[in-house]
Order: sequence, then C-alpha cells, then structure tokens
Amino acid sequence: MPEWPEMDTYRRLLSPLVCGHTITAVDVNREKTINEPIGVFQAALIGRKVLFVERRGKYLLFHLDDGNRLLLHLMLGGWLYYGREPEKKKSEYQVICTFDNGERLFFGGLRLGFLHRLSAKGAQERLKELGPDPFDSRLTAPVFANRLSKRKGKLKPVLVDQKLVSGIGNCYADEICFDAQVLPAAAIPELKEETKLRLFASMRKVLEEAAANGGYMDRKFTEDDTFVGGHDERCFVYDREGEPCPRCGSPIRMDMVSSRKMFYCPSCQRPE
Ligand SMILES: [Zn+2]
Repeated sequence: MPEWPEMDTYRRLLSPLVCGHTITAVDVNREKTINEPIGVFQAALIGRKVLFVERRGKYLLFHLDDGNRLLLHLMLGGWLYYGREPEKKKSEYQVICTFDNGERLFFGGLRLGFLHRLSAKGAQERLKELGPDPFDSRLTAPVFANRLSKRKGKLKPVLVDQKLVSGIGNCYADEICFDAQVLPAAAIPELKEETKLRLFASMRKVLEEAAANGGYMDRKFTEDDTFVGGHDERCFVYDREGEPCPRCGSPIRMDMVSSRKMFYCPSCQRPE
C-alpha cells in the first residue's frame, strides 16, 4: 500500500501538472469508487479548477475552486497515471479526469481505494483521527517520544497506527526499525528514551530518502517516467527475507507481529 513517500511523490509530480487546470470531462467505470451517483459526480466536477493538491497521511486531497475537495486513498493496489492515453486498458481505471489542456489523470486499481467528493468540512471530518504528519514542525523528537511512551504493546503495530503519526505503513515501519536498530516486535514500555529519539530521527530520514528516490510504486506515472518507484530496490529489509542484512550480513527474517508481516535482522536490531 502506498505510504508517505509514494503519496508525497504523487503530490509533488501532480501539482505542476493539474493545478490551475479545469476539469472538462469525467469518466467513471466503477460507481463504488465514488461517493455519489455518477451523473451527480460528473456534473459537479466538470468546469471545476484544481487549485492545489495536498497530502494528509496516505491521502491526497484535490482542492477545487468551488471549495469542495476530492479525497483520494489508493489503499491496496491503487495507482495514478497521467497522460493523453492510458498505459493499461481503459477498464483498469475506475475514474478518468480530462483537463482543459487535453491531458488526463487516470485513477487505477481502486478496488478498495476510493475517490470521494466532499465539502471542506466533510473532508476535515473524515481526516480528524489522523495523527500529525511525520514532518510537522511541532512534532519534535521529545514530542514523538512522549506520544510513543503513552502507547502499550509492540512497536510496529503502533508505528503503522495512523493516530500516532500519519503516513507510515508496513514497508516503512520495518525500514524505520531497521535504521534505528530496534526490533519491530519490541515492547514499547521496554524501549529506552534514546531509542525512541532515534526512531524519530530514523522516521524522518527513511521517509525523506524514500520520497527523494520516488517511493516504491511499481507503476509508471507518465509515459516517460523513470523516477517513480526508484526506491523499490533500495529497501533494506522489507520483502527481503533470507537476503543478507546490509549492515551485518545475517539473513533477514520474516515473522508475524499482531497479524502483520515484519522483516528484520535478528542480530543487529535490538529489543530495547
Ligand atoms: Zn544485521
């Protein structure tokens, strides 16, 4: 599932392409992907200009010039493609928006994901449970450590809880734990203060690097795109069971923690 780096990559790439452009046509191939009848959705969007694109956690919000928002969550398997012609069969895209310059934004793979049209207030209501952004200036290392200290249980399930911070999922939680040299199954009450502070630094470092590399999405964003997905090969532990740990050479292990997979190095990641 796309996480902070993937969604922020989309935000950065999309902004100069769609902001200031007016939607001239909307195709919907799957009514369940949207939150109102297709005709209503189309009529409300045609003629609207995109003012800016915002990312909140793993969501993207398209701010429209009538004050409403399009709220996108890609969930598992969703992706975006921008261009004149679709890269895949048109039926693989649940929604297609055409802009006044003839370019189109294709929303693909939205089986669990969705694109909902909401008022500003409605969008705010939907996102009210989200914790702070990992890069929020008010989220300092001590504030993060303190938020973590209030939680019980094991580390990974809490790192991926969007109420702690928003935007971390299965892949980057493992990468953050690896960078901080702490086990994803470590019990939070056992963590030393310095480990919590280290986790904060690792969180920002890992997310920033992954975003700079284009995240791990395995689909092109435009026809000539060579940037998106550049981080996929650079994950150190995620999905690398049996491969040597890049730090100490021990084989990477995969185990379950609270019914989630976790990838880690059993020799250089510690329980505290
Ligand atoms: Zn290791």
